[in-house]
Amino acid sequence: MKILIIGGGMGGTILGNNLARRLGPELRAGKARITMLSATDKHMYQPGLLYLAIGRTTPDALYRDQVSLLEPGIEFHVDPAEEFQLDNNKVKTKSGKTYDYDVLVIATGSRMAAEEVKGLAENAEFFYTEETALKMMRRLQEFQGGKVVVTVGVPHKCPMAPLEIIFMLHDYFKGRGMSDKVQLHYTYPINRVHSLENVAKWAGPEMERLGITTDTFFNIKEVDGAKKILRSEEGKDLPYDLLVAIPAHRGMDVIEKNGLGQRGWIPTNKTKLNMEGRANVFVIGDTTNIPISKAGSTAHFEAETLGENIAAMVKMGVGAPVRDYDGKVFCFIEAGLDRATYAMFDYQNPPDPKAPTRAMHWFKMAYNKLYWASARGLL
Ligand SMILES: Cc1cc2nc3c(=O)[nH]c(=O)nc-3n(C[C@H](O)[C@H](O)[C@H](O)COP(=O)(O)OP(=O)(O)OC[C@H]3O[C@@H](n4cnc5c(N)ncnc54)[C@H](O)[C@@H]3O)c2cc1C
Repeated sequence: MKILIIGGGMGGTILGNNLARRLGPELRAGKARITMLSATDKHMYQPGLLYLAIGRTTPDALYRDQVSLLEPGIEFHVDPAEEFQLDNNKVKTKSGKTYDYDVLVIATGSRMAAEEVKGLAENAEFFYTEETALKMMRRLQEFQGGKVVVTVGVPHKCPMAPLEIIFMLHDYFKGRGMSDKVQLHYTYPINRVHSLENVAKWAGPEMERLGITTDTFFNIKEVDGAKKILRSEEGKDLPYDLLVAIPAHRGMDVIEKNGLGQRGWIPTNKTKLNMEGRANVFVIGDTTNIPISKAGSTAHFEAETLGENIAAMVKMGVGAPVRDYDGKVFCFIEAGLDRATYAMFDYQNPPDPKAPTRAMHWFKMAYNKLYWASARGLL
């Protein structure tokens, strides 16, 4: 059985390694073959970008060579998918090659779509790529005081990153002795500070306690860079001195161009993880349209479920018993530079974040290093 994985990020890597370990005998006997195509030969630990933006890590700590993370037995090529021919079980790539498959897994991730908001890309700081996080770090270092606005659009990857950055900025400016010179402000598109109700119930009062002001029902419309004003669809003009944005995301362009899903989100069965209407095409990670958090842990738990199911297909034939993905997500929440809490939830059970502790922060720090073992499937 030919298994083709498109994407070598969190979801694709964890799935590939999971399958390679489960299917050792079948791979050696030539009964199964795992091929992974990605857009780059580097693997980035994206959660590290938060720390890069505030000068707490360096770019090299965020990368490993993709091949160094993969189990032997996985054929890896840097050759981005360009054309999905799902009716013929084929994928055409940038190099002009055609890969055929029995089972296809799409894990191409998501991206910020800052260009959709007039004035945003030119006037805001971002931390969702290496380049923008480094630029934000330099901007923070030069900043001498004023109103810092963190503005959020949905959907975006990492449900907790907007909260984490505002709490980390609070401690960052405190550490520089600038608390009295900086006013932190946070905007969110719905009627509370986070989409998950219990997370909002914890984060709202925490912001109040720290003197962080908020605007809810604030959907970003445009930025007037000359006047330094952030304008909302609801008609509010918000002045700022430094603007940090987590803009709404889309899936990758290749998904939209191939008509696989609007705005790059592929319609996906929320428990079986197959693309709706396709029994041999599966989707994991950010690029699904499943209405849960777009997080690395989501991709991880989906990959583990799918690994078991695809291995069962190889070993026992299609229609073998399958495990359902239960919607499990686990996210650390940095509540500053030395305290953290977490949110764990699934389709049935909402999160219930507890008071932040130093121990949880150090657990997160340890996880940042252990991630590479997790990507290899050792954790
Ligand atoms: C600042 C920040 C902080 C975060 N913090 C956390 C956190 O604390 N906890 C958490 O759980 N998550 C966090 N996340 C989110 C997490 O990184 C993503 O949700 C996760 O990486 C999604 O995994 P994925 O496999 O879907 O996509 P990705 O990991 O983004 O991988 C996508 C892969 O697809 C490849 N690709 C793209 N196009 C093509 C193509 N045409 N053909 C082939 N390959 C292609 C890319 O090269 C990449 O290898 C954070 C993200 C950011 C940006």
